[in-house]
Amino acid sequence: MSHPTDGSCIFCKIVAGQLPCFKLFEDEATIAFMDINPVNPGHALAVAKGHWPTVDVIPPEILAAVAKTAQRVAKAAMNTLTPSGLNLLQSNGEGAGQSVPHLHVHILPRYPGDKVRLNWTYTPGDKAEIEAICNRLKAAL
Ligand code: 5GP
Ligand code: ZN
Repeated sequence: MSHPTDGSCIFCKIVAGQLPCFKLFEDEATIAFMDINPVNPGHALAVAKGHWPTVDVIPPEILAAVAKTAQRVAKAAMNTLTPSGLNLLQSNGEGAGQSVPHLHVHILPRYPGDKVRLNWTYTPGDKAEIEAICNRLKAAL
């Protein structure tokens, strides 16, 4: 299977075997490896083999394959590392904190008292505003 690649992309180089990684798993469309800057022990990445930066451009069947690989790694992490919880995270664009523009899902085990900050508290929204945005989004689906 051939994949689109970007010669300057660090994950494309890992996929091509030009850069090393601590590989967990691979199949035809995806690869999973350990994050080299782990936020918590067990932090791993499920990555499309092809170079697509974000969810809006990746083919849906490849995104589904990445999700399947992320689930597989998440189950192994839950069973082996027995964290207190686990986040799956996927960022799109610099504004969302994406630093590598090659689609990937973080598998992030959580531990009691860890200093990871990505959970938020609930603040009820304005119903009219929620409905207006809902209508705009529905029209775009
Ligand atoms: P993003 O910020 O794009 O959501 O996540 C990119 C992730 O890739 C970061 O957590 C970062 O630590 C990881 N990363 C960056 N360069 C490398 C690398 O060369 N090897 C591995 N294994 N992970 C990397
Ligand atoms: Zn790439």
